[in-house]
Amino acid sequence: MKTKILPADPKAGYLAAKAEIDAAIQRVLQSGHYILGTEVAAFEKEFSAWLGTADTATVANGTDAIELALLAIGAAAGDEVVTVANTVTATISAIGSTGAKPVFVDVVADTMLMDLGALEKLLATPQAEKVKAIIPVHLYGLAVDMPRLLAMAAKHGATVIEDCAQAHGSLVGGKKAGTWAPLSTFSFYPTKNLGALGDGGAVTGADAALVAKVKQLRQYGWRQRYVSETPGRNSRLDEMQAAILRVRLTRLDAENVRREAIAQRYLAELSATPLQLPVVPAERTHTWHQFVVRTPKRAELQTSLASEEILSGVLYPVPIYRQPAYANSEASFPNTDRACAEVLSLPLHPGLSDAEVARVIAAVRGFFETV
Ligand SMILES: *Cc1c(COP(=O)(O)O)cnc(C)c1O
Repeated sequence: MKTKILPADPKAGYLAAKAEIDAAIQRVLQSGHYILGTEVAAFEKEFSAWLGTADTATVANGTDAIELALLAIGAAAGDEVVTVANTVTATISAIGSTGAKPVFVDVVADTMLMDLGALEKLLATPQAEKVKAIIPVHLYGLAVDMPRLLAMAAKHGATVIEDCAQAHGSLVGGKKAGTWAPLSTFSFYPTKNLGALGDGGAVTGADAALVAKVKQLRQYGWRQRYVSETPGRNSRLDEMQAAILRVRLTRLDAENVRREAIAQRYLAELSATPLQLPVVPAERTHTWHQFVVRTPKRAELQTSLASEEILSGVLYPVPIYRQPAYANSEASFPNTDRACAEVLSLPLHPGLSDAEVARVIAAVRGFFETV
């Protein structure tokens, strides 16, 4: 029987570093210190150094990271926050939790990233004066054109918060996603390029004073223990996950190189199929969190792959404005709708062997030879 090929494989990530991760967990267990101790402090330092920012505030997950970043810039009821609808609900629920209203713009047809031309038009309308923040989602491992976006936001007086949950290591003009805007947010959900073995997230970015504010907000508004200067709440990364992330961070660059090699093979060997393959604009480096192909025959292709024990993913099948909790009949974004109808993520993770990659390629080609 054929072994199952998974779209992402956090367990393979654990096994690849098992001895080091087991030792890190033991170190924490033996330390007797489980919340906001030396592991969290060390990971925050190491992650900031790897990324190229002055400081990082780790938090409980990527959704909290977005919410706390928005609270740090003072987003509240009455404000609007512009983002895209082909994202995980997290981006939008985080906006909603602050009291602000999410406002959508369409995405560009080929990259499926925020359409900055559409954003420019939106910012020129009278109702745009309520726009407090703009959250670009660096989708699938490809970052938005940050210099252009930051210039637009500055003109409007809005703050940019980069959602980097899928972009650990992605570059724009040689500079990492997450270092451009005043604040940027990361998720360490197990399937992300840098994944914990549980939940985790972080807020970092170019404005260290705002990052310090997030450190206060994540723990009851404390700067000094037992003195709440602002309301704040509890959103902490625990020592165990921080220790695991420290190990995984040392492997991230090599794992991204492996992702790139697999992606290049898919690009070359699937180029003769009718699939629409991912594009990487000049001056940007993809980190292949997802390898997303597009086809109107998505359901058939997915079923055919599954019959050969190859599991694929759909990120995301339904735009946020068509989901029950956020349904908005006025919203109509053709590129977003088409993306959601056609995208399919082929298996891509650092644990895939060359033979497994070949199996995926053969199965996809075989599907198009028989339809
Ligand atoms: C994963 C993800 C999040 C949320 O992260 P959690 O850690 O699951 O809360 C937010 N935005 C995007 C784009 C994501 O992919």
